[in-house]
Amino acid sequence: MRLLIFSKALYSTWAFYAPDKVLFDAGEGVSTNMGNKVFAIKYIFLTHGHADHIAGLWGIVNTRDNAMGDKQKPLYIYYPKGNKGVEDFLGFIYRANPDLEYDLIAEGISKDNEIKVTEKGRNARFIVPFPTEHTLRERSLGYNLVERRTRLKNTFRGLSEDEIIKVIKEKGRDYINETYEKKLLSVSGDCLPIDVKYIQDTDILLHEATFLSAEDRKGESHSTLDEALKVAQKARVKKLILYHISSRYERDIRNTIARKTKAMNPSFDVLYVTPGRIFIF
Ligand SMILES: [Zn+2]
Ligand SMILES: [Zn+2]
Repeated sequence: MRLLIFSKALYSTWAFYAPDKVLFDAGEGVSTNMGNKVFAIKYIFLTHGHADHIAGLWGIVNTRDNAMGDKQKPLYIYYPKGNKGVEDFLGFIYRANPDLEYDLIAEGISKDNEIKVTEKGRNARFIVPFPTEHTLRERSLGYNLVERRTRLKNTFRGLSEDEIIKVIKEKGRDYINETYEKKLLSVSGDCLPIDVKYIQDTDILLHEATFLSAEDRKGESHSTLDEALKVAQKARVKKLILYHISSRYERDIRNTIARKTKAMNPSFDVLYVTPGRIFIF
């Protein structure tokens, strides 16, 4: 299991990426529905301060405090810097839980920050925020999970193994290798279509599609299915997971998505999170 997601627009949204113990958003019911995995969370990244994305925070903080077992590990919460809704709620959680048995560390971040989330024995991995457009009054962020990898420089790719070893002996390994960054996962949160430049070539794109049909959209704060598909196409993703879908579509969600996806004939897989059901990938 890599991803565990729950999402129903207006009610509750959260997505847990197990390999790096990262939870994106923390809607209502998250600690109940995650079961034992709630203790695995190490980092929480909030996209914005709406109740359907943060209401479950207090539950997580308490569940961890009351459970048996190792409580020494800190819990880190990152959120869009200056987001008043999140800061007010965190203030309340700190006041309501003055004697927590572990460190609860909350920090406002912006697009210039990157947070290292590497687990032992892996290439270095980071969460890198990018700006999104959701509501005018509030700051919101999307997040990339980026892995820093090493590869042979282009000029050495034609050499045999023996020749490469010879160069390494003479000049050192750094001479023949270069580092590059690979986006493994991108998460939109609530927003208008993500600016493609932030998520180019990501493996998995989790993009909101509150409205499966453009006629249903009121106001300019959420994306439609067509928009999410276009973003994924332009960004050349491998997999698109649609989430934050309005529950009004519950009845023919499968047909609607299949029809629009077929019309586009995309080069990537399209999956979706059924509103109100746990999604495991
Ligand atoms: Zn929402
Ligand atoms: Zn929202």
